[in-house]
Amino acid sequence: MKQHIDTAPVWESYRQDCECPLCLLQAKVEASNVDYFLGESVMEPSQRIEVNKKGFCPGHFKMMYDAGNRLGLALMTHTYMKETIKALKDNADRARSAAASDSGVALFKRFGGQKGGGLADAANEVKKLANTCLLCDRIRENMERYVYTLLYMYKHEPEFPKLFEQSKGMCLEHYAQALEMAQKHLSGEQLRRFVDTLTDIELKNFDRLSGEIEWFTNKFDYRNQDKPWGNSRDAVKRCVNKLGHQVILED
Ligand SMILES: [Zn+2]
Ligand SMILES: [Zn+2]
Repeated sequence: MKQHIDTAPVWESYRQDCECPLCLLQAKVEASNVDYFLGESVMEPSQRIEVNKKGFCPGHFKMMYDAGNRLGLALMTHTYMKETIKALKDNADRARSAAASDSGVALFKRFGGQKGGGLADAANEVKKLANTCLLCDRIRENMERYVYTLLYMYKHEPEFPKLFEQSKGMCLEHYAQALEMAQKHLSGEQLRRFVDTLTDIELKNFDRLSGEIEWFTNKFDYRNQDKPWGNSRDAVKRCVNKLGHQVILED
């Protein structure tokens, strides 16, 4: 993978106290992409073509709607609607002819041999329209670059492994991604040390969080009413962040 390495955002994220520094980076990537798609990209014909092809997933459509730039969203959505209508028309024949051919076959005979064909194919095409997302694609590309940068820093920046060791691990999704990419980009002692360290901090911090959320539940017992919260007051939020990748809940 040959590319420009920008280590500053990864350093910055790892200097913050959080359950997953990669989720912090991802939230920033997501916010700047939402801004970009509602703003600049609307006037960028090549971007519009990509939006028309892929559209956005429900979560990202909602995020853009909530961001408030209704004209930007309307311009983009209008051309995307037109492309979607074309795709729906292409798929309409498939759905109609599948229904026509199935209509002559008894219900019990349609399962098995017909499974996955006909109407199921037509339905899958519609699902694809609803779920492909240009913003998800961009985030995925960016996060791959950041995980690559993290591995690069682990390898080449002498101060980084220490800071990495003091971090609280990652959310499940980013832990999986880091393991996967470590296999591709690290080798020898470095690969062993990175995976050992990451796995140690991951387990240690899952244990810590589990204790914190337990104390949160115990605080509801009247006998513990006057005891201190410790770190448990926002433990539910932090557990959800740790388990549900990219779910940065606000207080
Ligand atoms: Zn994460
Ligand atoms: Zn999306």
